[in-house]
Amino acid sequence: MRSRIPYSCQTIDEDDIAAVAECLRSDFLTQGPRTRAFEEAGAVYVGSKHAVAVANGTAALHLVCMALGLESGGLIWTSPNSFVASANAGRYLGADVDFVDIDPETGSIDPDALETKLNAASAAGRKPDILIAVHFAGHTHGFDRVAAICAEYGVALVEDAAHAFGAVYQDRPDQMVGSHPQSVAATFSFHPLKSITTGEGGMIMTGSEDLAKKLGILRSHGVSKDPALVTDARPDDGDWYYEQHQLGFNYRISDIQAALGLSQMRKIDTLMEARRDRARRYGELLSHLPLHLPQATDRSSWHLYVVRLDRSLTNVTRKAMFDALRGRGIEAHVHYIPIHTQPYYRALGFAPGDFPRAEAYYETCLSLPIYPLLTDEEQDFVVAAIADALGHA
Ligand SMILES: *Cc1c(COP(=O)(O)O)cnc(C)c1O
Repeated sequence: MRSRIPYSCQTIDEDDIAAVAECLRSDFLTQGPRTRAFEEAGAVYVGSKHAVAVANGTAALHLVCMALGLESGGLIWTSPNSFVASANAGRYLGADVDFVDIDPETGSIDPDALETKLNAASAAGRKPDILIAVHFAGHTHGFDRVAAICAEYGVALVEDAAHAFGAVYQDRPDQMVGSHPQSVAATFSFHPLKSITTGEGGMIMTGSEDLAKKLGILRSHGVSKDPALVTDARPDDGDWYYEQHQLGFNYRISDIQAALGLSQMRKIDTLMEARRDRARRYGELLSHLPLHLPQATDRSSWHLYVVRLDRSLTNVTRKAMFDALRGRGIEAHVHYIPIHTQPYYRALGFAPGDFPRAEAYYETCLSLPIYPLLTDEEQDFVVAAIADALGHA
């Protein structure tokens, strides 16, 4: 058993290392054939028409918002119970950001809260341009209702699916996250703690060929050689000729990263099964303890396993539990500090109290170690430490 048990960690095998080494010996290091193969494999796996690989999940969100025409004066809504990147995507473009409170059972946007808020915003004439829905921990309960509400109000729906590569929609047993017919795009992250990793990396899935084309240009400086887009070529211009019509970025992924991603993709089923098995096992081992357990199913990708220390169940505080686990080398974590309570967002006018359910969730949540390589022995050790802290040893 390891001396420290992190809350999450990557799974890297010898074949991953060999795939990267093979790329290093090839002709392409930056975006090339392996990137295209990685996109192809990602699109086939989730069942999306198009996939565009980028430098990271944050760049994926930024580019989608940009390609959808978001700009200064625009407005996005997202979940306060997420990593800051979900909201920052709108801020990069000078747009305003607002939040929709969560359903504490899922940790994601509450469809009822969304409907109420959209109704009021509609009446006031300031609907959001984009809703960035976060599949917290990889759970997707209630998402079909979120999608239906966005369709009804004409709001573009983007899924921040950073936690959900490999997840299946709760309401759609045959469809993987990234293939929802009512969302404009879904973004994934391949940070080492996510379902599969490329070190840093991300991917955008979309059913729209037009959007995929725009994303491909924006990820590479806004330049293109596409004869359909080039306007000022002269007869004696050759293959060197390209034009820039808009300001893009260098958000490319490298072929070194894509080589790792392709190798990781080959074992996604095993990685998912291992996470689901760890989650099922926690569900059984923790069921007798005074804790609020996540109610998600085998369709989740189980990026996080979040328990809550409910005051109605125990007097042990989240901080006391956190310290007790850390004292035994168990690196539990907390997801998330509500985005609107960050000093940057408070300076934009948000205040504690604005999204009370996300704040209450934050006060009581604790993320337990979950990752494919977590052994039964380590998991038993975590459970014993929790039982001990709760006085149930
Ligand atoms: C990890 C994460 C991101 C950002 O992904 P990076 O690849 O680290 O840029 C965005 N949103 C959520 C919810 C995340 O967990």
